[in-house]
Amino acid sequence: MKLLNLLLSLTFIFIANGLIAQDKGDPKKTEVWEPEPVAITPGHFNAPPSDAVVLFDGTSLKNFVNSKGETPEWVVAEGSMTVKPGSGPIFTKQGFQDVQIHLEWKAPGDTTGLVGQQRNNSGVFFQNKYEVQILDSYKNRTYSNGQATSVYKQHIPLVNACRPPGEWQVYDIIYTAPRFNEDGTFKSNPYITVLHNGVLVQNHVKLEGTTEYIGPPKVTPHEDKLPIQLQDHGNYVSFRNIWLREL
Ligand code: MG
Repeated sequence: MKLLNLLLSLTFIFIANGLIAQDKGDPKKTEVWEPEPVAITPGHFNAPPSDAVVLFDGTSLKNFVNSKGETPEWVVAEGSMTVKPGSGPIFTKQGFQDVQIHLEWKAPGDTTGLVGQQRNNSGVFFQNKYEVQILDSYKNRTYSNGQATSVYKQHIPLVNACRPPGEWQVYDIIYTAPRFNEDGTFKSNPYITVLHNGVLVQNHVKLEGTTEYIGPPKVTPHEDKLPIQLQDHGNYVSFRNIWLREL
């Protein structure tokens, strides 16, 4: 009798394990087929993918305006555009909310007399309010939360991946815009991820508000879609190959 019980128990364990194993072993139960991601054509060597909005292809400033809504005075030549110091920042004609943006920039090779924040400063402002710093930070010490790829005065980059002045540099940035509550507070904060020359330097960092030169960040409700600004900080910073994807 004992032997029979033992055999029955073993048989039960065997069947139960078999059932569990069968359940665990069905790969179809964890397959998800919908939605199917849209097929796009990726670009080669930083060229825009097929679903990108091209902001600057090296030929014209047609997708930008100055603060008066007019054609900017920045200089387009040899496939790039360069800040005309004193002419003011430029803004995309189109407004954007959440984006992935690619841009390439270059600081002049001649750095004579330029130190700290004055060494070829510019910046990309999401929704015209939240700046990722552009600065020649190659062997050019300044406050860490104001160097290249800092989220200005809020987040220090993980490393300094700057190339020497005179060389083209690449920013790939993922920007998640804030959402606001009825009372004007953040429902969700802005978030930024930055790759500088292919190196992760800001990993989904949370912004506490606008990036202010003086004083703490401000939380001010604004429209969903606003222009992206490129800063004129009085230096001859150049740009090329600017495109984005709306997220
Ligand atoms: Mg700046």
